[in-house]
Amino acid sequence: MNRHSETHEVIEQLNQAARKLDAVGRLRLIVDRFGDQATMATSFGAEDQVLTGMLAALPARIDIFTIDTGRLPQETYDVMARTQERYGLRIRLLFPDYQAVEQMVNRYGPNLFYQSVELRKHCCTVRKVEPLRRALAGRQLWVCGLRREQSVTRQALDFFQWDEQFELIKACPLADWTEQQTWDAIRSGNVPYNRLHDAGYPSIGCAPCTRAIEPGQDVRAGRWWWEAPEHKECGLHLKKNKD
Ligand code: SF4
Repeated sequence: MNRHSETHEVIEQLNQAARKLDAVGRLRLIVDRFGDQATMATSFGAEDQVLTGMLAALPARIDIFTIDTGRLPQETYDVMARTQERYGLRIRLLFPDYQAVEQMVNRYGPNLFYQSVELRKHCCTVRKVEPLRRALAGRQLWVCGLRREQSVTRQALDFFQWDEQFELIKACPLADWTEQQTWDAIRSGNVPYNRLHDAGYPSIGCAPCTRAIEPGQDVRAGRWWWEAPEHKECGLHLKKNKD
């Protein structure tokens, strides 16, 4: 059996186990099985906050990191600070390569993301994907707060899948959760959350690329709102067509 089929077998076993567990059980499975080979990415969105609260309540910890793109809203720094205080956690911060940012902004201007999809993706690559690659280096699994419901690009999401882009397992313990479940967990657990959620932002990224939505709009409609829905990923959660 080659390494590729072994990995797929492991993922299948994890998914079979995960289907019988709730979200806390899935996190416990990850912590027990992967320990310091696992890491969690947070952008302090509602789902990430639910997962952070669940992880903080487990006896064993895993690494949690965030990427400071340099363009985040103040409200995100506020919830970052409140989360660290509340749970006594140290959340690892990663920054983009300053020379790559300098070169990009000097060449294309501070608002390059509005000029074209290509330049927007270039900005996401420099400010998010490259630091994410460093954060994931040497790990076997990363945890993130994606839910199937969130966008047309996420409807086939499983609890565990192979991440071809970063070459490790991607775990989504809340894949089957609804928005209602997420908010019920935040309220019942008194979990700190980003105040922009109260101002009509269901999904929060960088300040210039996120805006509030109208009631009834798709939850990701406020992210890169000037682009078509099929382009709306930042490069952190791309899915290749071949599997
Ligand atoms: S979300 Fe916008 S500002 Fe942030 S990295 Fe992507 S293009 Fe750049």
